[in-house]
Amino acid sequence: MTKKRKRKIVPRVGMPMRDAVERGKIFSEVALGYEREHAVKEAKRCLQCKKDTCRKGCPVEVDCKKFINLVAQEQFEEAFRIIKDTNSLPAICGRVCPQENQCEGSCKLRPTGQPIAIGRLERYVADNFYARNSCEEETGFMECMLPDESLKVAAFGAGPSSLTLAGYLAARGIKVTVFEALHEPGGVLVYGIPEFRLPKSVVKREVESLKHLGVDFRCNFVGGMSVTIDELFSEGYKAVFIGVGAGLPRFMKLPGENLVGVYSANEYLTRVNLMHGYKFPEYDTPVPEGKRVIVVGGGNVAMDAARTAYRLGASKVTVVYRRTKGEMPVRREELEHALEEGIDLEILASPLSFSGDEHKNLNKVVLQRMELGEPDASGRRRPVPIEGDTFEMETDLAIIAVGTGANKVLTQTTPDLKLNKWGNIEADSLTGETSIANVFAGGDIVTGAATVVEAMGAGRIAAKEILRRLKPEAVQE
Ligand SMILES: Cc1cc2nc3c(=O)[nH]c(=O)nc-3n(C[C@H](O)[C@H](O)[C@H](O)COP(=O)(O)OP(=O)(O)OC[C@H]3O[C@@H](n4cnc5c(N)ncnc54)[C@H](O)[C@@H]3O)c2cc1C
Ligand code: SF4
Repeated sequence: MTKKRKRKIVPRVGMPMRDAVERGKIFSEVALGYEREHAVKEAKRCLQCKKDTCRKGCPVEVDCKKFINLVAQEQFEEAFRIIKDTNSLPAICGRVCPQENQCEGSCKLRPTGQPIAIGRLERYVADNFYARNSCEEETGFMECMLPDESLKVAAFGAGPSSLTLAGYLAARGIKVTVFEALHEPGGVLVYGIPEFRLPKSVVKREVESLKHLGVDFRCNFVGGMSVTIDELFSEGYKAVFIGVGAGLPRFMKLPGENLVGVYSANEYLTRVNLMHGYKFPEYDTPVPEGKRVIVVGGGNVAMDAARTAYRLGASKVTVVYRRTKGEMPVRREELEHALEEGIDLEILASPLSFSGDEHKNLNKVVLQRMELGEPDASGRRRPVPIEGDTFEMETDLAIIAVGTGANKVLTQTTPDLKLNKWGNIEADSLTGETSIANVFAGGDIVTGAATVVEAMGAGRIAAKEILRRLKPEAVQE
């Protein structure tokens, strides 16, 4: 009998990181990015599989096999073009996508524990591509069509779904105006995800290149209030895209949740990120100070809030989660980074009430111990309270990160827009069109809170359909 020879497993090339102690006190980016030799070495590990399952794992189907092969051959510009063919925000995706559940989760090397570091390679290619003009920045090619002012499209919200739509259409000669409620474009990329994970300069580069392509950004403009969809159509817009996200914070409806010192993660992170609260007093945005902080939740938002509170001077930050570590929806890498930085976890626990002093300042939280029961609809085991098993923690800042819902400002002023039972917009999965003709929607406002790459994918689907209707001669695929 011939013995099967085991393939030697070559480990992934590690990502250079800022030291955990140093970074725990500053907002500079934690993951420093590959150097050229790292990227080439990592790309050379790729097996160039006949059946490249990695591509199917990517929500926008980046041709990973092809671009990785180009990196291995040091053909970085061509690699950028391949990525840009389906992914309009690679420098952002390379940093924040949950690759372990997507491309890397589907890589043939995954069972060895050493899948190709596709996200890191994508980031390397995007960070090191120096476009000669904004068209090349958006598409990878030098020439785009000039905007045709008679073909106007509006987008509400300036998050990744609208940025993707705007880039796709602008490069093909459609005039796009993006109306954003906040004073800066970027959506969650600027108000939610902190600087130490996604530097604002990376988002700015994207927005600037869209501006150069002719996209107009009108900030401090609330769709449904400052302008309605009907008004836009009467002003000559041919199509409207709704990409307003799902930014309405959810609370837990617990006693004491209105005490001073209990915040939604959304407000906390917006103050620190968008309003530059981390640079107080250089920027005059006060940020709630906490020495003993608890953060409730187990996703990226919870971990971002916890790591932010730690950087702002908390002596102890505890993330409270009602299931176990294995069920936490946070990206694995972010969880590891948080633990390295000194964040504590209190698993199988959930708050019951908050209490405060005579000035209504939060000083304590009572928590319920939980155990795991039968699986629920999501397939995860349901957390069940252990009767009579409660405990207390001293805390002066509690940040609630248990999810967000659809903001109703736009949908309430557009009664013909069909919504589902959660208040999200119903949109056709193949075109993105809503119940109103030529009104499209995508991203978190359709799916509920999801991911950057899914929002981008939705923006692209709607953009393709709009192009097909307004300028069929420009459709190539
Ligand atoms: C703290 C945090 C961390 C996250 N981390 C990750 C991560 O690591 N990886 C990942 O893939 N995903 C992550 N996500 C999720 C991801 O950011 C979202 O899924 C994605 O940004 C959704 O994109 P979007 O275009 O639908 O909307 P958003 O990014 O939410 O942008 C919507 C924009 O619309 C604006 N708006 C709202 N109402 C109106 C109106 N009426 N008129 C005009 N403008 C309006 C808002 O101000 C906002 O700027 C995170 C989310 C948060 C909050
Ligand atoms: S599945 Fe993994 S090893 Fe195979 S082509 Fe894709 S990235 Fe390379």
